Amino acid sequence: MIGLIGGMSYASTITYYKLINEFSQAHHNSLSRAKILISSVDFDEIEELQHNNEWQKAGELLNKEAKRLEKAGANIIALCTNTMHKIANDLQKDLKARFIHIAHSSLKELNHNNIKNILLLGTKYTMQEDFYKKDLKGINVITPNNSDINTINDIIFNELCFNVIKQNSKETFINIINKHNVEGILLACTEIALLINENDFKNIKVFDTTYIHAKDIFLQSLE
Ligand code: GLU
Repeated sequence: MIGLIGGMSYASTITYYKLINEFSQAHHNSLSRAKILISSVDFDEIEELQHNNEWQKAGELLNKEAKRLEKAGANIIALCTNTMHKIANDLQKDLKARFIHIAHSSLKELNHNNIKNILLLGTKYTMQEDFYKKDLKGINVITPNNSDINTINDIIFNELCFNVIKQNSKETFINIINKHNVEGILLACTEIALLINENDFKNIKVFDTTYIHAKDIFLQSLE
């Protein structure tokens, strides 16, 4: 039984649910599907804790959600946001279920594709702080300049997390990405693939953490 902690934002939690079922459908030649429990939190509460730098409280809150899922029968737990992996250790406190860390899934996929240099795109927390980059061991991680970080962060929180997709924001993302000379981009925010995908680029490989994570969650649920 897979337990997803979602709602951060609902727009990408929908994608996790859809992808895990699609992987399941492709795998089983029947109506058999992965069993999924979703705990969808109030994102306003979480965003306020992020904003006020109250990460410990956020960790305690998400630890409660993880335990709630475990108690309900989940033996695999995944957190459907990159940013909140900042408190991944607190979330796992006293948890027996297997936790599938999004950066670990992403690193496996980058290594599998022999990628050594990536442009990391995500919220300002993910791009500016070390908690995520440190898990991408052996990868040379580049981030945009501060003004582009703010632009990306605003589009994530003011549009994508509301499931609002705008053509001019897509162009903004593409322009920022094209300033960099990299082999690949890591979409390290679970909503970015709502806006851009590999068809938008000729010579850059696109790695979507939502897709990678959902696939890893499904594959590990088969073990
Ligand atoms: N879903 C986003 C992420 O993957 C941002 C929302 C959040 O701050 O949790 O980082």
